[in-house]
Amino acid sequence: MMFNPMVSLRTGFSKKRTAYLKTRLFFLCSIFGSILLVFFFCEFLVYYLVIVKCSWPEVKGAHKEDSTPVLKAMFLADTHLLGEIRGHWFDKLRREWQMERSYQSALWLLQPDVVFILGDIFDEGKWSIPEAWSRDVVRFQKMFRHPPHTELIVLVGNHDIGFHYDMNIYKLSRFEKTFNFTSGKLVSLKGINFVLLNSVALEGDDCDICRAAENQLERISTKLSCSRMREHPDFRKKCKNVEKTPMSAPILLQHYPLYRFSDLECTGEDSASPEEKKVLFREKYDVLSQDASKKLLQLLQPRLILSGHTHSACEVLHQGKIPEISVPSFSWRNRNNPSFIMGSITAANYSLAKCFLPKENMIIYIYCTVGTLFTSYVLACLWACTIQRIHSGRKIKLV
Ligand SMILES: [Zn+2]
Repeated sequence: MMFNPMVSLRTGFSKKRTAYLKTRLFFLCSIFGSILLVFFFCEFLVYYLVIVKCSWPEVKGAHKEDSTPVLKAMFLADTHLLGEIRGHWFDKLRREWQMERSYQSALWLLQPDVVFILGDIFDEGKWSIPEAWSRDVVRFQKMFRHPPHTELIVLVGNHDIGFHYDMNIYKLSRFEKTFNFTSGKLVSLKGINFVLLNSVALEGDDCDICRAAENQLERISTKLSCSRMREHPDFRKKCKNVEKTPMSAPILLQHYPLYRFSDLECTGEDSASPEEKKVLFREKYDVLSQDASKKLLQLLQPRLILSGHTHSACEVLHQGKIPEISVPSFSWRNRNNPSFIMGSITAANYSLAKCFLPKENMIIYIYCTVGTLFTSYVLACLWACTIQRIHSGRKIKLV
């Protein structure tokens, strides 16, 4: 049989070409797979890995063997869903995805009985035209969807209806209708009383909304007083027409914090920055007025207060015995290290813990590092391929 050198050369070339294409395909697949893996980690898995470290705190007096009901409550604040005026589409996409994944991962891992969002749900609720409002509400409902066994209770904030000078009946009714919220409401869950307030209406200037809010506050105060005097001889006479409420000191929930002069005393990694701590708070703007704060403490005698609005963490003690927790913002837009509060609560006691969400800078760092490594790897491979092709070209010429 005759040996044909041309056929042998062609076969050699096609084998080399197939091997080259295979290497190239493997290279592209591994790059694409690694990118998908990093993306899956940063956009999905990381939320579970961070939140799984959180657990419900133990509450005094509640043991598994006794039947004291313990309410597992999650408190978050200042979600500030961006609107059409100030919201860039990428900003919206990024921050809303972060909140949706954080919230959904927390619900799945922690199974709370109830979730409270302490106001400023929307960033532009105070300006929104009806169409924009409806669109924002649809987005909110998708992000904060929850199973039927978890209750979601939403409070009103100044960004939802405007500051006092900007607030009106239309904006308040729109919010109340959407979220089934009233300006002053007493909610009892597992024998625990929560007072939900519209703190924007506690201006004390006798405006229509403020008057209605104060009347509701008085009614709640009467209910709570009656719940405390069950054993009193005058109970039947004084509380005959008052709706029965469990005998438990209430937990006050609202958007504005009670009066404090600044955040100077606040500590912790998610408290305000040193510059912010120097700024004195303005009454009726950053915090409630001193008068409204005193009135709330006197009328409600709460055992605990949780509020939002400042976007930073703080713990203060009112009258030397009533703690108030400022819940930091839940959104990366307002904080690098958002968080929420987890409360194990009984009618007599409570215990709180904080659960941090993934940090935004950590995710950016992972993307940047992986991006740099990939780029270097791709460039190195391209360089190696080019050198190899030059060498093989030279060899063919020599043959
Ligand atoms: Zn606010």
